[in-house]
Amino acid sequence: MFKNRSYCGELTVQDVDRRVELAGWVESNRNLGGIIFIKMRDVSGTVQVVFDSSLSLDTLKTADQARSEFVVFVGGTVRKRDEKNVNPNQPTGYIEVSAESITILNASQVPPIQIDAKETIGEETRLKYRFLDLRREEMRDAIIKRHQACQIIRNYLNNNRFFEIETPVLNKSTPEGARDFLVPSRISAGEFYALPQSPQLFKQILMIAGFDRYFQIVKCFRDEDLRGDRQPEFTQVDLELSFIDQAAIMAVIEGLLEEVVREVTGREISLPFRRLTYREAMDRYGTDAPDTRFGLEIADCSDIFRNSEFSVFAQALTGGGVVRGFSVNDAGKISRKMLDRFTEEARVFGVKGLPTLKYSNNAAEGGIAKYLGPEEIAELGNRFELSGQGTIIFAADEYHTACAALASTRVRVARELGLVNEDALDFLWITDFPMFEYSEEDGRFYSKHHPFTAPKPEFINALDGLKPEQADSVLAQAYDVVLNGVEIGGGSIRINIPEVQQRIFSLLGISKEEADTKFSFLVDALKYGAPPHGGLALGLDRIMMLLLKKKSIRDVIAFPKTTRGQCLMSNAPSPVSSDQLRELHLKVVDR
Ligand code: ASP
Repeated sequence: MFKNRSYCGELTVQDVDRRVELAGWVESNRNLGGIIFIKMRDVSGTVQVVFDSSLSLDTLKTADQARSEFVVFVGGTVRKRDEKNVNPNQPTGYIEVSAESITILNASQVPPIQIDAKETIGEETRLKYRFLDLRREEMRDAIIKRHQACQIIRNYLNNNRFFEIETPVLNKSTPEGARDFLVPSRISAGEFYALPQSPQLFKQILMIAGFDRYFQIVKCFRDEDLRGDRQPEFTQVDLELSFIDQAAIMAVIEGLLEEVVREVTGREISLPFRRLTYREAMDRYGTDAPDTRFGLEIADCSDIFRNSEFSVFAQALTGGGVVRGFSVNDAGKISRKMLDRFTEEARVFGVKGLPTLKYSNNAAEGGIAKYLGPEEIAELGNRFELSGQGTIIFAADEYHTACAALASTRVRVARELGLVNEDALDFLWITDFPMFEYSEEDGRFYSKHHPFTAPKPEFINALDGLKPEQADSVLAQAYDVVLNGVEIGGGSIRINIPEVQQRIFSLLGISKEEADTKFSFLVDALKYGAPPHGGLALGLDRIMMLLLKKKSIRDVIAFPKTTRGQCLMSNAPSPVSSDQLRELHLKVVDR
């Protein structure tokens, strides 16, 4: 029956006079008394189908009965639309199908979502009726674009001699920093698998096994509190390569992203991407994922205020902190009210406030101006160009706290003042990350990337007797790729020498026993000829969201979960029967 089916959205004036058969859904049905217009839809788009009054009564009756979202099979002939009915905004707007027959293949209840609705539909309804939501043009396009991006990725990597190899989903937990999702084992009572947070260990094992270039478009799972726009399961384009250095990995990724951008947006980007070291990014933008589509660069002002009489600055500096800030030449557009709001929002980062200084043509005149001496103001004038009218926003605190508050405020200000070029695709590499972070609370070092990341060779000797306050000083061969202020991927060159791996474990407080129980297979494998290797993982959901200019990653995932980790369509997660629990040797103790 469907052998000769044409696609609705692909018919053009080239098809005029062609007899076609279409299968799909009724998007709308207008009966103008004697003549019926059905907008018919399939995965390729829509086309207007016209049932002229010359058709048999039976055919017209069936056409009339085909309501919204009924599934129909239509036979007819393509013809040009009358001049006055042409719709140049629609791909099939110059033609229509003059129907000869219609069969209703299936009925539909009145849908709770109008598929061609112009107004926004509540997200809960969209997620609950995802099968209908996915029929909407916007969602359908996003899912198809994602498919196309995946094909491009596969082709590109295949052409670059990568092998696509699956790694297990039922695993031992890997120390990637987040909480694992656990799966109880029925056969081994009291034991659990962990869902992979990433295929890190397996991809390294594949390098040791000799598959010198691996990739996988792979689901990863992290049981985190779902702050903001995250998903408990997300998709990575995961890569690992042997006999390679950092620069070559970056070049492979740039080539890959160039093709993905071309496929998804039709645009060309320029290579190579700009590079910033972690330190530069932190100093100039307060974050390791800076949005550099606009200026508002942060400058350190600690030296200016060394002997300040302004107690807020003085206290921060004597406490070992910093005074940093950025200047907004805003012609007075930043109001007191806005500043209060920015300050309120910055408090979540731990700052007490955001002191501000208003200036006009090189003279300070508002905010904290009255607490500053003429020399301090002159120095500020040198540091920031205080021409025109503007505001300097400061943070005076411990370095990382000040950075976090200013980074976030910088983006807020740029958005509110319309300084962000929403059309830009600003790719950036961040390199030279520190190997470690030190947690005062836990009294130990943590890896900034993960424990398998190699230090830069010149820092190997610095590992011995590393002090907490030196945590930042040992640099790693680690790199992140950032797009428009969002980290879209990260990776590193790995340790391939067992002794170095051992030293890193012990610095991280991972005992030999712990290393043996958690990842002995990698430790073991490193002893049997591990080639130099490294890799990276890209976040596919985020990349698609940014390229398609969506507000949320949920808009580029076919079946996403809510921020509470629920699937509103299937109602997962859900309780299970006591029999299932018994089989798994589990008891639910509190709910
Ligand atoms: N496994 C790392 C991650 O998921 C990426 C990498 O180092 O390749 O972030």
